[in-house]
Amino acid sequence: GSFETLGIPDQVLRNIRLAGYRVPTDIQAQAIPVLLQGMDAVISSETGSGKTAAFLIPGIVRYVEGRRRLLVLSPTRELAIQTDRQAGTLGRGLLRHALVYGGAPMGRQVSDLSMGPGIVTGTPGRVLDLHRRGAIDLGAFDSVVLDECDTMLDMGFVEDVTEILSHASGRSQTSFVSATVTAPILSLISELGTDPVYIGL
Ligand code: AMP
Repeated sequence: GSFETLGIPDQVLRNIRLAGYRVPTDIQAQAIPVLLQGMDAVISSETGSGKTAAFLIPGIVRYVEGRRRLLVLSPTRELAIQTDRQAGTLGRGLLRHALVYGGAPMGRQVSDLSMGPGIVTGTPGRVLDLHRRGAIDLGAFDSVVLDECDTMLDMGFVEDVTEILSHASGRSQTSFVSATVTAPILSLISELGTDPVYIGL
């Protein structure tokens, strides 16, 4: 397969090439067309399979084409940092990106959020803190990705994630990225009443 056949506009293809990605990984070839169409998805994929770009590339395309914004929730600061770094590489010259996590001062994060980022990556607790302070407009996100969703729910973030999703009521797309599709993920999906496409199982 090739990125050129997946429906990705030229300026995004250029950034993919600059990132050094020559061909899509299996999960990217399957997930990118589904996410570009705006469908909800469960992306069953391990770290190292290219899952991050599988959801960032469609997020960037949807921003470039329609100013639709993406919120990525990550279980850990380390994962959030890596995701934000890829958002910077793949989105260079096309959108702003912001990274928010706990244990760091609010000021810089609040000012990054005020710049109108197309992609925000954050840990659930800090995202909720920023929401309560009025620093993040959760209603402005078109898509929400729950990255490493199994880990995130195992770590006890289910209430935070559910609350964030309840405020992100303007979204048209929710994606669940997870190494394994666990019972808590399936119950969250049924609670949300979505009917996602299953990819990578
Ligand atoms: P991830 O599974 O998202 O943690 O990605 C694992 C690594 O693969 C990261 O360093 C990515 O930059 C890299 N990567 C993602 N997609 C591709 C691709 N299509 N070709 C080569 N490397 C890639």
